[in-house]
Amino acid sequence: MDYPDRFDVIVIGGGHAGTEAALAAARIGAKTLLLTHNIETLGQMSCNPAIGGIGKSHLVKEIDALDGAMACATDRGGIQFRILNARKGPAVRATRAQADRVLYKAAIRSILENQPNLQIFQQAADDLIMEGETVKGVVTQTGIRFHARSVVLTAGTFLGGVIHVGLDNHAGGRAGDPPSVRLAQRLRELPLRVDRLKTGTPPRIDARSVDFSVMQPQPGDTPTPVMSFMGSVDDHPQQVNCYITHTNLRTHDIIRGGLDRSPMYTGVIEGIGPRYCPSIEDKINRFADKDQHQVFVEPEGLTTHELYPNGISTSLPFDVQMELVRSIRGFEHAHITRPGYAIEYDFFNPQDLRHTLETKHIQGLYFAGQINGTTGYEEAGAQGLLAGYNAAARALDREAWYPRRDEAYIGVMVDDLITLGTSEPYRMFTSRAEYRLILREDNADLRLTEKGRELGLVGDQRWARFEAKREAMEQELQRLKNTWVHPNTPEAEQLDAKLKTGLNREYNLADLIKRPELNYPDVANLKGEPIEDEQAAEQVEIQLKYSGYIERQKGEIEQMRRQENTRLPDDFDYDQVSGLSNELKLKLGQQRPETLAQASRIQGMTPAAISLLLVYLKKRQ
Ligand code: FAD
Repeated sequence: MDYPDRFDVIVIGGGHAGTEAALAAARIGAKTLLLTHNIETLGQMSCNPAIGGIGKSHLVKEIDALDGAMACATDRGGIQFRILNARKGPAVRATRAQADRVLYKAAIRSILENQPNLQIFQQAADDLIMEGETVKGVVTQTGIRFHARSVVLTAGTFLGGVIHVGLDNHAGGRAGDPPSVRLAQRLRELPLRVDRLKTGTPPRIDARSVDFSVMQPQPGDTPTPVMSFMGSVDDHPQQVNCYITHTNLRTHDIIRGGLDRSPMYTGVIEGIGPRYCPSIEDKINRFADKDQHQVFVEPEGLTTHELYPNGISTSLPFDVQMELVRSIRGFEHAHITRPGYAIEYDFFNPQDLRHTLETKHIQGLYFAGQINGTTGYEEAGAQGLLAGYNAAARALDREAWYPRRDEAYIGVMVDDLITLGTSEPYRMFTSRAEYRLILREDNADLRLTEKGRELGLVGDQRWARFEAKREAMEQELQRLKNTWVHPNTPEAEQLDAKLKTGLNREYNLADLIKRPELNYPDVANLKGEPIEDEQAAEQVEIQLKYSGYIERQKGEIEQMRRQENTRLPDDFDYDQVSGLSNELKLKLGQQRPETLAQASRIQGMTPAAISLLLVYLKKRQ
């Protein structure tokens, strides 16, 4: 049957990409349908119950700055919060939260169910409705035809999913869920480049069978951090400890003894796994000289005894898993509640996408999340938001949008994927961003919220909070610049105790904050009242302390923007560019960058090669 209502946007899949996509589309006013296998698994974390971490929290805060759900759900479901790299510079600082799976999922579901313009329908999507090279809707498992102007596909690890435990394998989307076989077959008939990747997860353990007294407790930070710019510690549930233990030489021997029954080492699994989240068998192999590996013992929630032993992801046979777990200190009597496993799945070459995440060959079809070759909830959520916005913008005849590399980690990720493609699961790191000092997690709102408001993504509540913060910052910066401290005054004496060399002339408070020995609280209340808004105060301090570096990076961005504005024609014949190596001619011809800046990011591209392109372009004009 044809479903009687027509939609602007249909999102297939209610994982991390799908929920942000559906919410973003609905927020800008598109009539949206979220079509997913099972309403009970909306927002389910397939693997580690944790959000954020280095590079990843930057994405979460960018989603938040654009009024997405992930950070708010983390604040409502987070049971242990920490700031990683707290002693390093603000560019690489990152918030990480251990989440209660049930609370996180409930928060996501509640946000979805209360979103105007959004409807949810539980059923598998089996096919796409096509008219020529344009998608027009989706057909479900029981033959219901939903019509829409744009479709966003976010099927995660489900397309042609195969689960491996030892040499046994079976079809599955993740443990306990069916795979998407028919949709995967249908997609393979379309002009899209498909390949296989794999990922894995550790066995889960019953906390009642664990001896925590021999492990090192790892409490959260005090004061407890928050993930959302709108968040408060009052949103958090009870906070608990994680623990640390280690593998040992016996564990490693057990693993080596099981490798002849490992699907990875016997060639049963062909897909490439996540380099930065390797399985324990991979670690033993790659770092053969190490006597031990850390295992973070993380609670899965407040109302369950299940633990997630982070660091021993494995697809070894169950008997080997059992033995290796019990060889670890504190796990001697451990009961495994769920075996670890690996999963292989289809992903699409992201080089077949535009920066809006629309597929190049099928109009109106957008891809987001794990199916684009990424790994991680945060990477998926960020792509989902972008794809959802653009799918809705297309349906509503509004302008497409995507952030540049100097505006957001979302921009870095999408540009990396589209320009370079990926042959292994892609995860975000701060090292992937060339403008790290500008793209901090703490200023994601200052970078994106105004744009989000202009696009219709940001609601009134967030906008009001943001404007108040921005105004408080501006006023405080002015006050600090206009307030002076003179030598030989009581204020100067207070400072002299902290300074290596005392005040020898008058200084304004803004310049004093730039000195390495002083921070905002040391200076702000010397004269006048410091601001109460902690987020605004933090921004004022960072902006002042790092102003020199920030200005320098802004200069580099200007230079890059000039390259960004230099477009490369679609019919550019790279063979005609003399001096360019054959390898680069081939890569440029295959990847067809749209701008000089995109060309500059192709692997092997040099400043000299960029100059050759520029010279050739000038000659053509
Ligand atoms: P998913 O979260 O997988 O969501 C896909 C959604 O689409 C599901 O709701 C599904 O039911 C629905 N769906 C699929 N097909 C259809 C269909 N035809 N019709 C309707 N609905 C459909 N990430 C890491 O960062 N580190 C790790 O170590 C790691 N290990 C992992 C281990 C395992 C075993 C698994 C399964 C995942 C692992 N991940 C890991 C990946 C992480 O789970 C994903 O990156 C993230 O969930 C991707 O989000 P997504 O929205 O793209 O897909």
